[in-house]
Amino acid sequence: MMLPATPAPVTLPVHGQTGHFPVRRIFCVGRNYAEHSREMGGDPTREAPFFFTKPADAVVLSGATIPYPPRTSDLHHEAELVVAIGKGGANIPLADAPAHIWGHAAGNDLTRRDVQAQAKAARRPWDMAKGFDHSAVIGLLHAGPLPDGAITCTVNGRVTQSARLSDMIWSVPEIIAELSTYITLAAGDLIFTGTPAGVGPIARGQTCTVTIDGLSPAIITLA
Ligand code: MN
Repeated sequence: MMLPATPAPVTLPVHGQTGHFPVRRIFCVGRNYAEHSREMGGDPTREAPFFFTKPADAVVLSGATIPYPPRTSDLHHEAELVVAIGKGGANIPLADAPAHIWGHAAGNDLTRRDVQAQAKAARRPWDMAKGFDHSAVIGLLHAGPLPDGAITCTVNGRVTQSARLSDMIWSVPEIIAELSTYITLAAGDLIFTGTPAGVGPIARGQTCTVTIDGLSPAIITLA
C-alpha cells in the first residue's frame, strides 16, 4: 500500500513581504483577562492563566468562509493577540523574552462552547472544544514589536469584545517565560494570548472580525 503524501506545510502570509512564516505548533493561554475569567466562572485572584494547544493545521487565514463546525450548536468567537516566535529556547528569562518574538497577528480562537462546558463538567480534556478544523483564525502576520493598543471583536458589525492588550493578566513576555518552562519553544510556534470579556456566538451566515491596533484584521465568515 502506498504511503500517504507528505502534508503541505502550514504557513502564514506576512504583511509587506512575499515570504511566508512557517507554523510549527499552536499554544493558547486560557483566562488571561480578569473579566473574561469571571464570565467563565473563574476567580482571577485565585487562579493563574494556563495553557492548552491546537493543531497547526487548524489554521485558517483571514478572509475565508468556513463551514459551521460539526458537533456544536454554540460556536463562540474569542478575539486574541497572536504572537509568532522567531527564536526558540527553554527557561527563557523574562528580560530576554521580547528577543524571541518574530511578530504579531490578530486571531480568533474559535471555540465549541457547549463541548467545552461538557468537558469541564466531566473533568475531561478540552481538545475537541478547541482544536477542531478551521478553529485558529489568523490575520496577516506583522514583523516587529507591538505597542499597547485596543483589541476589538465585531459580529456583523456589532461590537462584542473591546479591551486593551495591557489588560492581560500575564503580559506577552511573561507568557513566553512561563510557557518555556513547560516546553522548549521553537521558531515557528504561535501563541494565542487569551481573550477579553464578551465572548459569544457566531451564527451561520455571520461575519466575525477581530481588530488590533497596528495589525491587519482577522475576518471569518460562517457558511
Ligand atoms: Mn482563547
